[in-house]
Amino acid sequence: MTEQKQALFTIFGATGDLAKRKLYPSLFRLFKKGELADNFAVIGTARRPWTNEYYREVVLESIKDLMNSKTEAENFASHFYYQSHDVSDSSHYVNLKDLGEKLRKQYKTAGNQVFFLAMAPQFFGTIAEHLKSENILTGEGFERIVIEKPFGTSYDTAKSLNDSLVKVFSEEQIFRIDHYLGKEMIQNIFAIRFGNLIFDNLWNRDFIDNIQITFAERLGVEERGGYYDHSGALRDMVQNHTLQLLSLLAMDKPATFTKDAIRAEKIKVFEQLHNPTDDELKKFFIRGQYHSGTIEGKKDISYRSEPNVDPESTTETYASGAFFVDSDRFRGVPFFFRTGKRLTQKGTMVNVVFKQTDSIFGHSLQPNVLTIYIQPNEGFSLSINGKEVGEKFSIAPISFDYETDATATGASPEPYEKLIFDVLNNDSTNYSHWHEVRASWQLIDRIEKLWAENGAPLYEYKSGSMGPTASDDLLADYGAEWVWKPEPKN
Ligand code: NAP
Repeated sequence: MTEQKQALFTIFGATGDLAKRKLYPSLFRLFKKGELADNFAVIGTARRPWTNEYYREVVLESIKDLMNSKTEAENFASHFYYQSHDVSDSSHYVNLKDLGEKLRKQYKTAGNQVFFLAMAPQFFGTIAEHLKSENILTGEGFERIVIEKPFGTSYDTAKSLNDSLVKVFSEEQIFRIDHYLGKEMIQNIFAIRFGNLIFDNLWNRDFIDNIQITFAERLGVEERGGYYDHSGALRDMVQNHTLQLLSLLAMDKPATFTKDAIRAEKIKVFEQLHNPTDDELKKFFIRGQYHSGTIEGKKDISYRSEPNVDPESTTETYASGAFFVDSDRFRGVPFFFRTGKRLTQKGTMVNVVFKQTDSIFGHSLQPNVLTIYIQPNEGFSLSINGKEVGEKFSIAPISFDYETDATATGASPEPYEKLIFDVLNNDSTNYSHWHEVRASWQLIDRIEKLWAENGAPLYEYKSGSMGPTASDDLLADYGAEWVWKPEPKN
């Protein structure tokens, strides 16, 4: 039987987009599964002067597609309380404290508290300080804080944010969200790697030629131009998601399948990330920006013409490159990555390209490739060489596919649901440790600096393509090519 959790959740930014689109539906899913029942309450806070009644209507609206019965949904929403609050105003924390004390008793939450910071990062430090100075933290039960991305915009900003948090919370209490880590197939990497003798034994530089990580988006920046123009693909997608995924692919086998053992192995990978020389930096990392193009008969505008984007912007909407890990397991093996907007097709995947076997057939053979599909489809496929049916002996790659459309089956938990579940269970496996964030920023800062000083070309690429050809050339230098080459649809 599911053990029901006891906790008071305080959501900062309760009127915002993230809370409505992700947090309320995910809490409701946990409620429906019995993970949350009688002993939980939620305080939503933001500046808007909402009432409890109005707040509950907003919550009900956000879960309307998930509800089986009105009674169940209303029961869930009855646990929600709204407190108007400006996080920069110390006097407002008094009301928050009083309401928290009342709800902790009313719902018998055992003093457990989870704080979600679903608002802009510049407020995180001030919120953490006030939680301590206003005695909202009582030390009675567990007290955990969940932080949204981005965790800083450089090493310096990440460090000062972290410094302000660790004055109040220990590393074990801080959960830095990378929602990709909650995805079903990212979690499946553990099962594939460590649950199969063939992969467990072959997962190293003797057998793997290269690993390719693709985060391709079909859409452009949409309404996020203002934010994106100050961020770019490298900060938005590579510092966090790409390097986190890389760490799961590159890590050594943990002694046990426990959060501490997994974290230790992940941190080792971040510490072994190859620090490129200046020449390598120029060679290994490629940036691009989309210009207009036609896809399926529809014309896309260029990045510089997007709303809230500087018409002379040099922000990259595409980043690609090769990371290396200086470990015994993977020294010298390129981890190629590419991520970009307005590419040919949406798709997140990993291709593990194995080395070619010595051929006795008089011609070279295709390498074996293990593909892990992360989104929109979920699954994996393994391509091996086999004999084509017929009198002639000819060899062709055959693909074993297991692919499931998660949205169609609805079987996969939403990443945020999984992540909230993990917070309640004190499982930080799928969250980023400070050492990981620190090491990733230190490397990303070097690339950012080179690009800011115009030390590398900014390639244009056509909307609807798979990015600049410079990225293909980088792989060609290693005798490799991108495995996934979706056909452009003009
Ligand atoms: P948003 O829609 O702009 O919401 C911001 C929230 O902060 C609102 O509830 C706003 O409410 C509140 N707020 C602003 N200033 C405040 C103050 N001084 N005191 C108290 N409350 C204040 O932003 P969002 O999209 O939900 O994003 C929140 C965070 O999650 C950001 O860090 C973002 O980068 C991150 N994130 C969001 C998504 C997503 O899907 N939306 C995905 C990944 C990461 P009032 O105006 O009523 O005060």
